Amino acid sequence: LQYAVDERSSNIQTRPPVVTIMGHVDHGKTSLLDKIRETKVANGEAGGITQHIGAYHVKTDRGVITFLDTPGHAAFSAMRSRGAQATDIVVLVVAADDGMMPQTAEAIDHARAAGTPIIVAINKMDKPGADPDRVLNELTTKEVVSEEWGGDTPMARISAKTGEGIEDLLEFISLQAELMELEAPLDGAAQGVVIESRLEKGRGPVVSVLVKKGTLKQGDLVLAGEHYGKVRALTDEHGQRIKSAGPSIPVEILGLPETPAAGSEFLVVTDEKKAREVADFRTNRERERQLERQNAMRLESMFDQMGQGDVSFLNIVLKTDVRGSLEALLAALNELSTDEVKVRVISSGVGPISESDVTLAESSEAVLLGFNVRADATARRKADTANMDIRYYSVIYGLIDDVKSAMSGMLAPEHREKILGVADVREVFRSSKFGAAAGCMVVEGTIYRNKPIRVLRDDQVIFTGQLQSLRRYKEDVNEVRTGMECGLAVRGYDVEAGDKIEVFEIQEFARTI
Ligand code: GDP
Repeated sequence: LQYAVDERSSNIQTRPPVVTIMGHVDHGKTSLLDKIRETKVANGEAGGITQHIGAYHVKTDRGVITFLDTPGHAAFSAMRSRGAQATDIVVLVVAADDGMMPQTAEAIDHARAAGTPIIVAINKMDKPGADPDRVLNELTTKEVVSEEWGGDTPMARISAKTGEGIEDLLEFISLQAELMELEAPLDGAAQGVVIESRLEKGRGPVVSVLVKKGTLKQGDLVLAGEHYGKVRALTDEHGQRIKSAGPSIPVEILGLPETPAAGSEFLVVTDEKKAREVADFRTNRERERQLERQNAMRLESMFDQMGQGDVSFLNIVLKTDVRGSLEALLAALNELSTDEVKVRVISSGVGPISESDVTLAESSEAVLLGFNVRADATARRKADTANMDIRYYSVIYGLIDDVKSAMSGMLAPEHREKILGVADVREVFRSSKFGAAAGCMVVEGTIYRNKPIRVLRDDQVIFTGQLQSLRRYKEDVNEVRTGMECGLAVRGYDVEAGDKIEVFEIQEFARTI
């Protein structure tokens, strides 16, 4: 595709490093991403509210650092499987009170396979059980040796909770980036990688990209994966419209006709005819691949019917919030099949669970899984009448665990999320003294002051966190029931009228195999 790229002007400049955070579940990847964003982005930036666009960048004394916002090696590998080398540096989070765990070792393997340098963040140093030396020791078994011990891996002792050590970590990242001499031309047609894409009501396909070379501008004709279109608008991670984006800076673009897969390359082209040719070629190739997959599936089920071997199938219909999580989940599900039980994803896509998903799941006896998305009202009614269970998840690991246990003949999950109450945000009041407060009506169950909450917009989860306050008639209260009005504020997030606040609880169930 070099023909399409304008290589003439090349004002080569240092570019910020792009960092992915990896590590074992619950070791604090999300907390670390949140803490860095909270301490480095919130203050001083216009707008204040940060949006999830798949990546964000922070300014430090030693320069800018960009973080990919989907932690974990599943997303990292899904990107890499498309040939996208989006990450320059991996930050490996290891909880100081838990030490090296299976996914820690996996993350090291993934980073090595990609040739990406690792910086270790020994997290949860604030905890009484923290034992960083044990972590250092355990990591040496994977040949990750701390600089303190004569190796070449920088290790920062941090707490994503208190913020301790985060400045050191950021400095290590910048030093590593300086060693790597990351450079990119600032001028010329932009080229880069799609990090996430989703369909948004009223806005259409919203595609987050990371520019790798050149500068992306409003009005540019962009080819991304199998799709092309003119960039109608560029937005940064604060939801602010911007005119252009240079290397390593994440932006959301509007104007593409569809959602390209995470990891797809994108580039600015000058010639619409060429763009269409390449797009058509890629569409055909994708269609062929899909046909191949369908044929393979048909063959498989034919064998099944012919009684060839004792294979059973676990059918799945899967909907997710963004392409990134979809691809990560598909990749992970793909690896679960055994000789006796095959996992078969009948249908998958991005967006809320619809009536047709329920119908399809019903007719193909599939389990219906939602990852950070909810069923819309019609789908919910349909599922109720069909007596179908829709399962919701917000953690990849949780979903995979459940599918695993479903495979072994039991759908009883270890942790199941129970929705305790839902409130509709009717109006938002702002005051300079108290900040934003949302006037709400509780429409289902009970809203509790001290339980975790999610903010839903168009049946998609856009924020998970907790309440800052819950009030009735200016009194602080602990709970508010269905049919009652209340005022509330969400910690660290500005809700809008039309949003739903969902209060949930994680319930534990015993599991027997
Ligand atoms: P992830 O699964 O790796 O994304 O982990 P999370 O960020 O969700 O963190 C898992 C749990 O550990 C949460 O309950 C966090 O509040 C907690 N946690 C994360 N970092 C720290 C830390 O530095 N100190 C303490 N005490 N708890 C932490």
